[in-house]
Amino acid sequence: MSSLVWVELDGGAPECNLRELRRGSAPGVLACAVVKANAYGHGVRQIAPLLPSADWFAVNSLEEGLELRGFGITRPIVILGYVALGDLAAAVEADLALTVYNRETVEKIASLASLPRPARLHVKVETGTGRQGVLPEDLEAFVRLVKATGNSRLEGLSTHFANIEDTLNHAYAEEQLERFSSALRLVEQVAERPPIVHAACTAAALLFPKTHFTMLRVGIGLYGLWPSRETFLSAREQGAVPALAPVLSWKTRLVQIKSLPEGSFVGYGCSYRTTRRTTVGILPVGYSDGYDRALGNRGHVLVRGRRAPVIGRICMNLTLVDLTDVAGAGLEDEVVLLGTSGRESISAEVMAEWAGTINYEVVSRISPLLPRTIVERR
Ligand SMILES: *Cc1c(COP(=O)(O)O)cnc(C)c1O
Repeated sequence: MSSLVWVELDGGAPECNLRELRRGSAPGVLACAVVKANAYGHGVRQIAPLLPSADWFAVNSLEEGLELRGFGITRPIVILGYVALGDLAAAVEADLALTVYNRETVEKIASLASLPRPARLHVKVETGTGRQGVLPEDLEAFVRLVKATGNSRLEGLSTHFANIEDTLNHAYAEEQLERFSSALRLVEQVAERPPIVHAACTAAALLFPKTHFTMLRVGIGLYGLWPSRETFLSAREQGAVPALAPVLSWKTRLVQIKSLPEGSFVGYGCSYRTTRRTTVGILPVGYSDGYDRALGNRGHVLVRGRRAPVIGRICMNLTLVDLTDVAGAGLEDEVVLLGTSGRESISAEVMAEWAGTINYEVVSRISPLLPRTIVERR
């Protein structure tokens, strides 16, 4: 079947990107590949096998963890998000490590009879992100509770940075790192040093070797995207700019081409009116596919190596573009929404700017229903 809207993945790129992300790490530091949200919209079923050297995987939910196990992934997996009390047994049965920060979770695990193995617990420390995590003042009691739980094992200690990618001033990240280091010392005193200590998202992995501890926990960089312009500038300041290669292209085809006279309205709400005789191209992609509605009258697509502006509003399943300046466009010609055509390209960062968001959101909202195909570029 010919796809009308699809995602192409560069098969060699994820592993190359992972190698770049590990470049600043000491030997022996593990790498956990964050594949939540369908591998940031890339397709987790396709991406996981493209990362043979990832030591761990991280997902957000129990469902995502079970899905990975269903694909035959036997490597360790940690669930970063919350698991409902009633589902904890299922997580342990699938050998999914749990991020824990509520007493209720640990008490529930303690009460479970006949688990097939000890629950693998990663205690998350709140160091200033104000999100999930145990407050430093509650940490000692929390770790004692974990230690007293017969059917579990304190496998990991983790935290997450609040603004490491948002600024060139890393004083706040340093403060969080300080708090995390004290938390680690406390845990060592109360229990023992957990074997897996992890804090470094992509920006931290790239900029701060001090945050690497025993494992990196990287997402966006695996997909060849920079966490932010600030991270790129900081890396450049440090003189070490890794070569990240975007993994994903997003494509569709022209399903109708027509010529409208000057003064014609185009699309819902009559928000665009032609100012000349206009060749309009119809694309079978819309906001239900993840093509942001904010791109209406604002974005561009690439056809035959030329830019074609989006005109009118983005519909649920359709988008209209101005092909007047694209010579020779024909029915079913390939259209690039994200990626490269000839000498032109549209990056996730540029699309994010059009839509008033960040590259993370642009890719992670690409519909999981679209087919993903793997291409070899190198
Ligand atoms: C998403 C996420 C990451 C990965 O962050 P990137 O910036 O994509 O590398 C790491 N840790 C946690 C807790 C996350 O939620």
